[in-house]
Amino acid sequence: MEYCNFCPGYCCYRLEGSVLLIDCDDINRLARHFAISDGEARRRFMENRHTFKVKEDGSCIFQSREKMVKRCTVHEARPRQCRSFPYNSPCPYLEREDLLKKIQPRVETCLKNSWQQKAGS
Ligand code: SF4
Ligand code: SF4
Repeated sequence: MEYCNFCPGYCCYRLEGSVLLIDCDDINRLARHFAISDGEARRRFMENRHTFKVKEDGSCIFQSREKMVKRCTVHEARPRQCRSFPYNSPCPYLEREDLLKKIQPRVETCLKNSWQQKAGS
């Protein structure tokens, strides 16, 4: 969706009770993207049989810490669920304040840390 181009990727943050479901095709697509085996992709990227690892703030391991928009670092090889969301419906993250309240502080902290690191280097 076009408005995704201007969003910091709220849907790439794990929330309690929600899960990004990864299947065999998703693993294979990523394995080809990184030129590694499916097994290696599972070992590197999966938290368990069904979903990716996340960073300490709950964001997907493939989400860039440095950018504000277009943050998926594997955009061409992203999983099916990422391609389909929000399933031809209005995006809930842009409509529901309760969701934004949970994620917005994480986005801001991530960007602040990234900028501070850059300023210090
Ligand atoms: S689906 Fe919604 S939350 Fe995800 S990137 Fe697009 S606008 Fe942002
Ligand atoms: S693979 Fe990309 S689009 Fe999907 S959750 Fe991770 S960062 Fe977001």
